[in-house]
Amino acid sequence: MQIISDLHQIKTSMVRPHLPYVMCYVFEDRSGKITLFDTGFGTDTAFSELKDKLYDIGYKFTDIENIIISHTHPDHMGMLSRIREVNPSFKLIISEKEYNWLSSRQNRDWQTLGNQWLQKHGMSLEEINNSEQDTQWKNIEWPQLKNPTLVNDLDILQFGEWEFKFLDTPGHTIGHLCMYEVNKKIMLTGDHVLPHISPNVSVDFEGKNNDSLIQYIHSLEKIENYETDIVLPAHEFSFKNLKQRVKELLMHHQERLNEHLMLFQDKSMTAVDVAREISWNTGSFDNFNLMMKRSAVGETVAHLEYLVAKNSLEKINGGHKQVVWSLP
Ligand SMILES: [Zn+2]
Repeated sequence: MQIISDLHQIKTSMVRPHLPYVMCYVFEDRSGKITLFDTGFGTDTAFSELKDKLYDIGYKFTDIENIIISHTHPDHMGMLSRIREVNPSFKLIISEKEYNWLSSRQNRDWQTLGNQWLQKHGMSLEEINNSEQDTQWKNIEWPQLKNPTLVNDLDILQFGEWEFKFLDTPGHTIGHLCMYEVNKKIMLTGDHVLPHISPNVSVDFEGKNNDSLIQYIHSLEKIENYETDIVLPAHEFSFKNLKQRVKELLMHHQERLNEHLMLFQDKSMTAVDVAREISWNTGSFDNFNLMMKRSAVGETVAHLEYLVAKNSLEKINGGHKQVVWSLP
């Protein structure tokens, strides 16, 4: 779909049912080269969808000069290796912060770490073993980020008539990038701002980003003031009023923080206790598969850590090294 002249949106399939597709953006310059913002999943289906839709607007993979990645989740960078097989010379652009964080996480047994982390936050081993496993994610490719060009906050990339400004917007991931096109006042938000869903803000299993919600809220306030005519997110649909959507997301988290706090009254709780009682618009916590449970508990911990940072809650490392939270 053409957004404006020389800028297209391409939808490719996801493997998760509640998010049907991910959007990649194609910027053309006059020399016949293109720049992509995000790639889509590394599946055969998504790859041939991207190939066909590029062809429809007159391009091949070999015409790609730059690929900019908003963040290192597989629905955004998953196709890099496949594209590289056809075009080994495109320039890969990624946040330096995100790259360093990802590089420090190689060679971990994430399955075991994730299960230990869930137990620490109050889930029994029995529940972990009995929860439905998310098999769709098992065979997902995590491409190598070969020789990337690393960028930082406010760095500029000129591409033909386009002037891209990179904005460090941590929260959804540690080094998430939004991109502002200065001349046409376009904000590409990746997974930082979506028009309908509230993006996942979580913590990792190693406690490296316990302040993720504080960071996320700062990152919302940061992009709110850019004069923006079109907002292009990675999922759902494009929209216009960035300020309004940022306000809604800020309000949503404020309400959610209150909802968390209200649960405590005179008892202490684990994050899993809280996640079981809090409302989820994707259904009831007990029916989630293991991956959804992990992501829900991660989001809960991010909110609890925020409340601890604001002195509204206390975090206690109780018996069996289980983490418990209570009013101060
Ligand atoms: Zn995504």
